[in-house]
Amino acid sequence: MGYIFSISVLILLFCLIIVISFLSFKKKTHLGNLQGDALIACFLLLGSYALNVQIDKIEAKEIFCSLQFVFADMMLFITLLLVYEIAERKRNIIAISILGVGQIIDATIFLTNRSHHLWGNYSISTGRNIKYAVLVPKTGLLVSIIYVFIMLSLMVFALLVKIRKSSKLYRTRYVESLIIVLLMVALLIYSFTQSGKKYGLFAPIATVLVLSFYYVSYCASPLSVLKQISSFVDSNILDGIIIFDHHGKLLRANNNAVSLFESKAEMALKDELLKKFQLEDKETVVWKEIKQNHYEIHYKPIYDDKNIFVASVFTFHDITENVSRIEKEHKMATFDQLSNSFNRSGFLEACRKVLEDTENDTTYALLISGIVNFKGINSLYGSNFGDKVLIGMAESLHSLHHKFEMIYGRTAEGKFTSLIPFEYVDTVVEELSKLTVEGEDHSKIHIDICNGFVVMNDKKRPIGYYYERALLALDKCKKKVDTPVLEYTKEMAEEQRRYQLMREEMRAAIDKKEFFIVLQPQIDMKENRVCGAEALVRWNHPILGLVFPGDFIPLFEDNGYITKLDRYVWEETASTIREFMDRGVYDGHISINVSRVDIMSFDVCDFLINLVEKYKIPVEKLHVEVTESALVNGKDSLVSTLEKLREYGFIVEIDDFGSGYSSLNSLMHIPFDVVKLDMVFMRELTKAEKDEIIIGSIAKMIHDLHASIVVEGVENQDNVDMIHRFKGDVSQGYFYSKPIPKEIFLEYVSNFK
Ligand code: C2E
Ligand code: CA
Ligand code: CA
Repeated sequence: MGYIFSISVLILLFCLIIVISFLSFKKKTHLGNLQGDALIACFLLLGSYALNVQIDKIEAKEIFCSLQFVFADMMLFITLLLVYEIAERKRNIIAISILGVGQIIDATIFLTNRSHHLWGNYSISTGRNIKYAVLVPKTGLLVSIIYVFIMLSLMVFALLVKIRKSSKLYRTRYVESLIIVLLMVALLIYSFTQSGKKYGLFAPIATVLVLSFYYVSYCASPLSVLKQISSFVDSNILDGIIIFDHHGKLLRANNNAVSLFESKAEMALKDELLKKFQLEDKETVVWKEIKQNHYEIHYKPIYDDKNIFVASVFTFHDITENVSRIEKEHKMATFDQLSNSFNRSGFLEACRKVLEDTENDTTYALLISGIVNFKGINSLYGSNFGDKVLIGMAESLHSLHHKFEMIYGRTAEGKFTSLIPFEYVDTVVEELSKLTVEGEDHSKIHIDICNGFVVMNDKKRPIGYYYERALLALDKCKKKVDTPVLEYTKEMAEEQRRYQLMREEMRAAIDKKEFFIVLQPQIDMKENRVCGAEALVRWNHPILGLVFPGDFIPLFEDNGYITKLDRYVWEETASTIREFMDRGVYDGHISINVSRVDIMSFDVCDFLINLVEKYKIPVEKLHVEVTESALVNGKDSLVSTLEKLREYGFIVEIDDFGSGYSSLNSLMHIPFDVVKLDMVFMRELTKAEKDEIIIGSIAKMIHDLHASIVVEGVENQDNVDMIHRFKGDVSQGYFYSKPIPKEIFLEYVSNFK
């Protein structure tokens, strides 16, 4: 019976060893491998023991008895490594090597003990119907015993150190390991004291102990550890966490969550939280303000691996810092520090918000107010003064703040834009017109402000649409004298469109021969014949059709393209004179117009001299018309150019005389041969008889200066009579002919009576 019991225990142990070592190796970790190795040693130990019992031959029994010692040593050695691994203790290679060598020597002595009997003699022990060989120790065995106890001490030491150092939470594991090692010590002491008699129990008990390491290192991860750790995690984490079980019962709420909701009762119901923060019953994230702080609230239902709902988790992540940083950045990006008002993007954004308010049925106007010649103000008075102007303007706008609903911001360098109820446009314009800023010498400097506005009839239109239009009105307003405000009209957009089309086409137009000249005849009043003509440019624009110079000359003067166009027109004129001479059809002169931009940009004189030489035309056949407005900027270059031209023989004509600021004054400075008076100016003068006296004396003065008078804009017989009265020399105007193409001009000349 006892025999069968022992055999059953052995078989059970073998099976356990096989299963557990398989599981250990399967883990593929260092610890798992050592565990497996230790169990193999146990397997061999147990096997030797079984064979010692089972085989009848005495010699074989003795060999297996020796092998038992060898494998027990091996098992202890591997267990030492295993304990070191459990205790996470660094292995000292030298110590391990010494122990390994000791192991080999010890094993060799055991294996050869039958020949030298150094460590003991064998005897046969009998008990419970089984017989097996045992070793009756001699003093020599003490060496082996010491070696074994050194290994055990190392294990105990390693575990004690680990127990002292580790958190209470994890101590259980090391304490359990220590108990196993101490049991081993006890088992060994017991076995040694029994040595020579019976220690059949050593192998199975040692195996059980080694097996129990497996439990300690893998299975025993106690729930209490987990619970405690998660409560540490809960209280250390910055987020608030609330967990409900599958019935909605509160499982856990960390301190942060509790402090957020004051009492746990308030958050007892999961559904209430879902409702309160408008979370859906699936994974959702929302941003909410709770007690003046901003939170990112995350709701997550948890499902097990079979997709069965098990719990719901709410986390509250404090994003207040992020939100205030973003708000600060937003303010920086939408605010103009200097004027303490919105910048362009901030203003447009604020406008959008006002206009999106569907209940608001105010009719708004978008008003852009621009400082006239802001650049000039900056360069004249300095940028500090410029800043003061901007601040003053912002303050003026701010002062209206309480009178009616408005938002405003500095939307460009020297421009403020306001969104105001339509009926208050005049109030704002008036307030801004009073703006004065103190200069460095404490004098009050008045600042001119122009305004352009647009009525926002359709709130659904993008704000940029209105902004562009108000800007257009402002630009137009800036060009008008004594007009403080202009409302946007469709014509402005049309003009803008025409400008755009002209700008796009401009560069290619000369090459595409889109420009051509027309000639307006000039009549000699004494001889009553066509004595000359003025060359005027026309543009045959591919989209706009025939465009008159009044439409594009100001644009070209602005962007400098006029210089290229004029050189082209002059050359066309010179070649026309040449052609007319060659054909013998016309021997009068043709006048060309010179812009003040030309005079400032290149050597006009040089160019014209080259031209008459190139086409071999008598210099007096090409007259040069200059307006006195050219005097305003660059008086010196104008005077020297005209002097050079006259020296060479060109006839110089002062165009549009009387339209400028200081007509008489200009006559003192500019060298000239002819003065062109425009009937349009004179019509305004002829209201009273007194005015005719003025015209008469101007004419006399011109004649006294040995210059002749050309009157242009002559439209009727009255004009002609008047010219005769003050002895005008030449007339030009619709009364005689409009500007006409070359061939028609020649017909006109030959038919003139
Ligand atoms: P401007 O030099 O004073 O030219 C005379 C303008 O008066 C011409 O207009 C002409 O068509 C117009 N006109 C002629 N007779 C009468 C009349 O009886 N009544 C009225 N109301 N108007 C009359 P246009 O051709 O439209 O030229 C306008 C201005 O454009 C010119 O004024 C001149 O300053 C400028 N311009 C024309 N061609 C050129 C050019 O090739 N180069 C430059 N730089 N400027 C040019
Ligand atoms: Ca002219
Ligand atoms: Ca003129």
